[in-house]
Amino acid sequence: MANLKRDIKQIKEIINNLKKEGKSIGFVPTMGYLHQGHVSLLQCSKKDNDITVLSIFVNPTQFGKGEDFDKYPRDLGRDLEIATKAGVDIVFAPDEAQMYPPDFATYTVQERLTEGLCGKFRPGHFRGVLTVVNKLFNIVKPDRAYFGEKDYQQLIVIKQMVKDLNMDVDIVGCPIVREEDGLAMSSRNKYLSEEERQSALSLSKALFLAKQMFESGETNPEKIKQKMKELILQHPHVKEVQYIEIVHPQTLEPKDKVEKGDRVLLAVYVGDTRLIDNIEL
Ligand code: AMP
Repeated sequence: MANLKRDIKQIKEIINNLKKEGKSIGFVPTMGYLHQGHVSLLQCSKKDNDITVLSIFVNPTQFGKGEDFDKYPRDLGRDLEIATKAGVDIVFAPDEAQMYPPDFATYTVQERLTEGLCGKFRPGHFRGVLTVVNKLFNIVKPDRAYFGEKDYQQLIVIKQMVKDLNMDVDIVGCPIVREEDGLAMSSRNKYLSEEERQSALSLSKALFLAKQMFESGETNPEKIKQKMKELILQHPHVKEVQYIEIVHPQTLEPKDKVEKGDRVLLAVYVGDTRLIDNIEL
């Protein structure tokens, strides 16, 4: 059974002892309701490190007003079973009062990379993400931390924080895990009805179309984006295409002419559920 810890002081003590023994620490931060995408990160960490720590914390500061913080799926019992099967050594699941006591006042903000894509539509989101990841890194002191390319902008933003703040942790990006039909795995897929789930396939279909167009020689981003949008809007439960962008994989700047290695990213509302996905060209 994975060792569950809820107390910051306690887990710091355990980690400090493991470090004294010379053990390397791999860390996978999550918001729980685990799926195979999370498990793939845990497997990477298991491979590279002596000890794997999983955190489960639905971080209130990264949700905006009117977003799904309250209804975000939570099931610690189920997560512990999955974590144990995956061979996790320590599960850290703090409560909100420990992470954000009433006198909490310090946040981590980043400019430039957080301004476009999801940052544009979710003001304050990356401030919340960076604050919690910074805190978790200080608590867990990992040698390596694993993040999914599913949240591509988040991965790039975290790499930049680690570089800018001279943090001693290697950030490892891991590929997107998809369902057999292409849908990127996400805890939020639980919100989808059966019919909505069919419409949710439009995200990956549009990304595969973009890749196919690029591979057939199309380098005009507007043409690719237009075809993607048309495909997505053919699906009945799509409420809104929030953005489709083709960007440089490191700077996240939109491209005038598409090149190999560029990244196509999108956010789409299917019913009331906001889904994101992306692909490398
Ligand atoms: P979350 O619990 O959604 O905050 O995700 C925790 C970590 O798992 C993040 O680094 C995500 O990018 C990663 N992740 C979520 N879904 C997937 C997926 N389908 N494939 C790979 N990584 C994922």
